[in-house]
Amino acid sequence: MASTYRTRFAPSPTGKMHPGHARTALVTWLQARKQGGAIVMRVEDIDRPRVVPGSADAIFRDHEWLGLDWDEGPVFQSSRDEAYQRALGQLEAAGMVYPCTCSRKEIAAIASAPHGDEGPRYPGTCRSGVTKPGKPPALRFVFEDPSPGFEDVLCGPYPEGRTGGDFVLRRADGIWAYQLAVVVDDDEAEITEVIRGADLLSSTPRQIALYRALGYRVPRFAHVGLVVDADGNRLATRHQATSIESLREGGRSAEQVIGELACSLGLTATSAPIRAEELVSAFDMTEISRSPFTWNPTP
Ligand code: GLU
Repeated sequence: MASTYRTRFAPSPTGKMHPGHARTALVTWLQARKQGGAIVMRVEDIDRPRVVPGSADAIFRDHEWLGLDWDEGPVFQSSRDEAYQRALGQLEAAGMVYPCTCSRKEIAAIASAPHGDEGPRYPGTCRSGVTKPGKPPALRFVFEDPSPGFEDVLCGPYPEGRTGGDFVLRRADGIWAYQLAVVVDDDEAEITEVIRGADLLSSTPRQIALYRALGYRVPRFAHVGLVVDADGNRLATRHQATSIESLREGGRSAEQVIGELACSLGLTATSAPIRAEELVSAFDMTEISRSPFTWNPTP
């Protein structure tokens, strides 16, 4: 029987690929290849003002260079307006959406994948229908307590708890929120396991609430430990982290980068150069190192 395992790469084309992205991509690739499943490449270019022209192509090149190929796509979120609109209509019909004219500043942070800090709990000001006239509204999802708990494949049990409040599905400027787009896309692509960085662990309960509200099947989730710099800060595109491109241009080989990442995941005993393919047969995702990894490669 053909495998039904399906996962995805979901880069945001807002800058260069860094070792944190590459480490998660390596785990995703190894898991898909080991399971005999498929990987969909999805470009999360929904927050158009933050998109850096050319970065999607550069990310594809980095994937190819590292030997982390995909089977379907690329699918671009920027071309999926109708699908998000349909899902929104379904939630509206179920009475789970309301317009909100609360501060733009707060709303601006929501379309991008949130990283760690979820910000203040939305107090539900506009839930009772008191919106400021003449102000274009954002649309919020009614997120009732408790927020769903789940069992993360790598991080273990994530308890149910108090929600962070009703969250935005579409910003006042018309940009779809990451939370809605990712759920609609993962469902349409029939993703069975979401593998991504641990910075998105706390987004998962909101996504599970949307899966349920939309009647979709909830996939498994596996959140991979982050890569941090020598000061313990998460490597992030916006902090100009060492990029895969700069490592390549500095003369490092793809096998050297994969070797360092594989060792950091506990897949190999040393960081000796290796090809991703050579790691497939012994790969067991449940055994990878959970802890954050400090990127401090041997020069
Ligand atoms: N686009 C997100 C990122 O690059 C990943 C979102 C996801 O995997 O759900 O951080």
